[in-house]
Amino acid sequence: MTRRFALVIEPAASDDPRSDFAGTFREIDPAAPALSVGEFSTQRGDGIFESIGVVDGHPQETQAHLDRLAHSAGICDLPAPHLEQWRQAVRVAASHCPPEGEGVIKLILSRGVEHGPAPTAWVTAAGAPDNAAVRQHGVRVVTLDRGYGIDTPARAPWLLLGAKTLSYAVNMAAIREAKRRGADDAIFVSSDGFVLEAPTASLILRIGDRYVTPAPNGGILHGTTQLSLFEHLAAGGAATAYETIPVAALAEADAAWLVSSVRLAAPLTAIDDAELSVDVEATASFNRYLLSPRD
Ligand code: PLP
Repeated sequence: MTRRFALVIEPAASDDPRSDFAGTFREIDPAAPALSVGEFSTQRGDGIFESIGVVDGHPQETQAHLDRLAHSAGICDLPAPHLEQWRQAVRVAASHCPPEGEGVIKLILSRGVEHGPAPTAWVTAAGAPDNAAVRQHGVRVVTLDRGYGIDTPARAPWLLLGAKTLSYAVNMAAIREAKRRGADDAIFVSSDGFVLEAPTASLILRIGDRYVTPAPNGGILHGTTQLSLFEHLAAGGAATAYETIPVAALAEADAAWLVSSVRLAAPLTAIDDAELSVDVEATASFNRYLLSPRD
């Protein structure tokens, strides 16, 4: 899919009783200028977003993404999104995706325009990059200090940790630093030595026959992909757990993955130069599941 699609939404109040929100959507030319120069999303990165994977025209885990959009809005003191309105916008965007192949639908809710209407909201749809190689061959990661302790989110909620905000410059800088160190990606760790998440993905470790992921109360984004995969694994009888994981536990992992909505499951081949073997069968099974239609 190469064509892009974009829709501006006139955000409805969360208690708006309408059942049909088509009148609040305006399709725009995705290549044409659309945002005001006073936009807080561009001036301050002040807003939130979601990236929904699309497989063969089907938006994956829409409800989980809408729930997280509402969660992020709450953390950021943004008006609560009307979830039915956003669900309908996702449906419209998905109808512009081709019936075959992978895509991505982005939902953006910005604080709006200085002295102007607020908030601003829009939805885009576009083709996804080809992630087949990374899903099969995996990524090397290095651990990077995120600079705060595991208890910082509770002490300093104004840092907005755990919200999916538009301020991703730090996450992108971490990936550049990982590349400078000869890796492909990073795993953030807290300054007091606990494992957190990757800049754009959640981390899952397999230790023996248990699947473990960092508990989301450590100021990380609770990933929809990790959540879905854990439900799938538990339904198949596997043991899954959310834990506060010390960095030393990385060395005990028998296998590990970065998981996210568009790249899906990328196996780790090395953490800080310690080689890790790829669980080929589990990786293929994870990606088969993640590529199946999921609501
Ligand atoms: N953690 C961070 C910081 C992310 O940016 C992302 C996705 O972009 C994730 C985790 C994984 O979330 P999801 O599985 O919902 O895509």
